[in-house]
Amino acid sequence: MSRHPRCTLLLDADDTLWENHAYFLKVYDDWLDMMMARGQQRDASRTAFRIEEDARTRRYGYGSRNFAESLCAACERLEGTLDASLATEVRAMGEWIHEHPIELKSAVRSTLEDLASRHRLMLVTKGHSLEQSAKIARSGVAHLFPECEIMHEKDPASYAELVQRHGFDDANTWMVGNSPKSDIIAAAAAGLKTVHIPHHTTWELEHREGPCQPDLLLATFSELTLHF
Ligand SMILES: [Mg+2]
Repeated sequence: MSRHPRCTLLLDADDTLWENHAYFLKVYDDWLDMMMARGQQRDASRTAFRIEEDARTRRYGYGSRNFAESLCAACERLEGTLDASLATEVRAMGEWIHEHPIELKSAVRSTLEDLASRHRLMLVTKGHSLEQSAKIARSGVAHLFPECEIMHEKDPASYAELVQRHGFDDANTWMVGNSPKSDIIAAAAAGLKTVHIPHHTTWELEHREGPCQPDLLLATFSELTLHF
């Protein structure tokens, strides 16, 4: 197998370089238990959350604090009022995600060091700007990314803008990530090549758009060094 000559690798961060979604899932599960203890069926709680999450994400973007506020809004939707002590507890759960130490996935550091010696690397993430910057800063791999982009949304228009602003040659620029919708479908629509590295958990909002057909499908992050 031969490696691609020097190219630009745009690398997603959450659930590609480090764990992220698992913390949200844990809090979500704990919240469903809390609501169950307050007499709310899990299905009803899930539905209430989905409605609030959809609306709030569109309005306020991503991030752990907004996630906690969506859980609070779902509590209010279910109970007709937001119990103050419940709200305090839910917001503390959001802070637990916000402050969680970064856990790099297997072989990420050594793989990035190897790739950085041959290619131009750029970290391309989406989410709350300050929250994402803080995560990059404490990840221990920030020095391997001379360039970072924190996008409000990863859609075809955002990728097209990125390509134009940086003057990327799109035939030689690859987006690498775990999310079918954000990293693969949207980047491919903007003309980029794509590498999909599925993660064991992927956010439900990420599964709502067409089939995912990456140029390259890998099982692990370290396999990137076989191709690049
Ligand atoms: Mg991701």
